[in-house]
Amino acid sequence: MTPNPQWNGQFSRFHLVAKTAESSRTVVQVGGLAIGGDSFVVMAGPCAVESERQLLETAEAVAAAGARVLRGGAYKPRSSPYSFQGLGVKGLKLLSKARKQTGLAIITEVMSEEDVEIIAEYTDIMQVGTRSMENYSLLEALGQCGRPVLLKRGMTARLEELLCSAQVISAAGNPEIILCERGIRTFETATRNTLDIAAVPVLKTVSHLPVIVDPSHAAGVRSLVPVLARAAAVVGADGLLVEVHPAPDQALSDGMQSLTFDQFRDMMCDLRSYVAISPALQDMQPRLLVAEGAH
Ligand code: PEP
Ligand code: MN
Repeated sequence: MTPNPQWNGQFSRFHLVAKTAESSRTVVQVGGLAIGGDSFVVMAGPCAVESERQLLETAEAVAAAGARVLRGGAYKPRSSPYSFQGLGVKGLKLLSKARKQTGLAIITEVMSEEDVEIIAEYTDIMQVGTRSMENYSLLEALGQCGRPVLLKRGMTARLEELLCSAQVISAAGNPEIILCERGIRTFETATRNTLDIAAVPVLKTVSHLPVIVDPSHAAGVRSLVPVLARAAAVVGADGLLVEVHPAPDQALSDGMQSLTFDQFRDMMCDLRSYVAISPALQDMQPRLLVAEGAH
């Protein structure tokens, strides 16, 4: 099978994360959960852990609707130094409590290499946010953290740069990486970011790593989240990262883009038929590439 020659030149130098004839796809195992395998894995929860009640209620609601991983930031990268910065270790402890209560795996963000050890103690997946994609000392520290890493695309990063960061983590000793498209900065202001939906089939073609989509930070408004989630499923994403809050209007961060429990449940029902056609589309991707790559 001949890949698009241009893509080949661009991405194949990141040999640890690039797809080759020999490399089989990476399936990241988190307990009994397989990310990048045959099921579509939804990670959901609040932007930030705010209180025990907020987190546990959300965990119960998203688990009941079919999510498999609970998200929630304890260390928050905020655009303003005057915004809520997260509960820190107290937030990590609440995430552990929610895991015990619901059986959900946990994902939370790590912003500094100094926090890697303590966060790895409490979480199942380490999230690297868009602002940290090029923090190479953090990426190197994650090479030895003993947990899978969800690597978000930098808001101004090309896919090549995303794969370069993935290569840094893998070269530092950790091949368990999930890539995440979360929207990029463009001239458009109607949405918070521009969801680069083509990034999904491109990354799935040039890399063996799982690829998920965060429609919440792409949209910036909750009304767009379900339809972007549909698009993600249809282009072959391996799952989603979605913000959900018991009372979005009172959220300490990202309330505008957070779904209510009812909206999340409706989205999960709606997604079923789109997820069902996704494997057929994944089969189509290599064929499209052969056509473009000629011969
Ligand atoms: C988040 O997931 O809440 C977050 C801060 O995301 P991003 O790094 O994509 O802005
Ligand atoms: Mn957020």
